[in-house]
Amino acid sequence: MNADSANDVANAAPAPGNPGSSEPLSFDYAQELDLADPLQEHRDAFIGSDDPALVAYLDGNSLGRPLQASADRIGSFITEQWGSRLIRGWDEGWLTLPARIGDDLGAVMLGAAPGQITIGDSTTVLLYKLCRAAVAARPDRREIVLDTENFPTDRFVLQGIAAECGLELRWITPAYEGGVTAAELEAAVGEHTALVLLSHVAYRSGYLADVPALTEIAHRAGALILWDLCHSAGVLPSQLDNWQVDLAVGCTYKYLNGGPGSPAFAYVRREHQESLRQPIQGWLGSDDPFRMGEDYQPAAGIRAFTSGTPPILGMLALQDMIALIESVGIEAVRSKSIALTDYATDLYDGVLAPLGVQLASPRDSQWRGGHITLDHPSFREVTAKLWEQGIIPDFRNPNGIRLGLSPLSTSFSEIWVGVDAIHQAL
Ligand SMILES: *Cc1c(COP(=O)(O)O)cnc(C)c1O
Repeated sequence: MNADSANDVANAAPAPGNPGSSEPLSFDYAQELDLADPLQEHRDAFIGSDDPALVAYLDGNSLGRPLQASADRIGSFITEQWGSRLIRGWDEGWLTLPARIGDDLGAVMLGAAPGQITIGDSTTVLLYKLCRAAVAARPDRREIVLDTENFPTDRFVLQGIAAECGLELRWITPAYEGGVTAAELEAAVGEHTALVLLSHVAYRSGYLADVPALTEIAHRAGALILWDLCHSAGVLPSQLDNWQVDLAVGCTYKYLNGGPGSPAFAYVRREHQESLRQPIQGWLGSDDPFRMGEDYQPAAGIRAFTSGTPPILGMLALQDMIALIESVGIEAVRSKSIALTDYATDLYDGVLAPLGVQLASPRDSQWRGGHITLDHPSFREVTAKLWEQGIIPDFRNPNGIRLGLSPLSTSFSEIWVGVDAIHQAL
C-alpha cells in the first residue's frame, strides 16, 4: 500500500473518538479510549471476552479468538448437515464451499474479483504448490528472490524447491525493525529472476510492504511475484487485482479467526490460471472428478489449484469472521488497528523505553501492520511470567515480545494491562 491509499483509508473510516482528559499513560485513559471506540461493542461477540482468567489476550495475530457464532455454526453443521445430509452434503454445497468462501474473502477484504481464490491446504502446502508452478512457468530463469526475515516456512519451502529444481536463492537482508524496500528489491531482481516471494506484513517486525511498487519492480524484471498475506488478511485491506499481484497465499487462523489449523487461501490471478500447473495433481483439481478417468486433466479456473477433498469442518468458523468484517468494513478495522498500534507505541515510549526496551517495529503506521514487537534480553522469562498471570502475548526469537492486536477483539485496556505487566516484570 502506498502512502496515499493508507491515508485515504485512515480518513474514510470512523476515527476512534476523542478520549477524555485523563493522563495519557493512566489506566483511566485506556478505558476512555475503549468508551470512545466505535468497534468496542464487537468484543462481546467473541467467546472468552468476559473470562476473568483471560486478563489480556495480545496474540490475535497468531491465533484469533473464536466467535460465539462459530460455536453455533459448528454445532449445527454437525447435527443438521453432516448428521442428516451425510454424503448428499457434497452435492448440496460442500464441494463448492472453498470457492465460495474464496470469493467472499476477495470481495470483503482482498480486492479480488470472483473466481481467483480458493481455500484448501495449509499455507505451507499452498506456498509449495504456487511457487513450484511459478518457477515451472519461467523455465529459462534460475533464481528466486526472497528475504532473510520472512517466516521460516516460506524460506524452508523455497529452499526445498531450489534443491528440487536446481535453482539459486537470492537473499535480501532487510532492516531488522523494517522490511524489504523498493531499492533492495530493485537491486536483487534481474533477467534471471523467475519468482519473488515476500510477505505483505512481516511476521516479526510488522513492516507493511508497498505491494504495488514492489510488484511492479518484479514485473519489470519479467518475474512473477507471490505475496504472503498471513499477517495482513483480516486486519487491513488489500487490492490484489488493482495491484497486479500474480499469486498470494494466507492463513485463516490469525486475524480471520478460523481456529487452530484452519485451511489457508490461495489467490491465482485469472490470467495465470491456464498457464500455471501446480504439482499436486489430485482428483478434485481435475476437470471431471466423478468421471474417475485415467489421466489427469486440470479443471478450468481456480479449482485446478486444489488437490484433494476440502476440509469442510475447518472452514466453518472463518465464515463468521468474514461476515463480521463485512458488516464493520475492512477500512474501519484498519483504522482501529492503527489506533491500537499507535497507542501501544505511545505506552512503550512512556513506560518501557526508559527501561532499555527496544521498539523492533516501524514507528509510522503507514509502514506498520497490526502488531508491534518489543525487544529486551529478559523477554523470554517475562513472557512466561505474563502467561502465568493470564496475559498472553507471544515470544519471538531472539528476545522479542510481540503484541498482536486484533481490532475486533482487542481493547485499549488490554494493551495497558499488558504493557503495565511487562513494566512490573522488568
Ligand atoms: C503464520 C504464517 C505461516 C504459517 O504457515 P502454516 O502452514 O499455516 O503453518 C506461513 N507464513 C507466514 C508469513 C506466516 O505468518
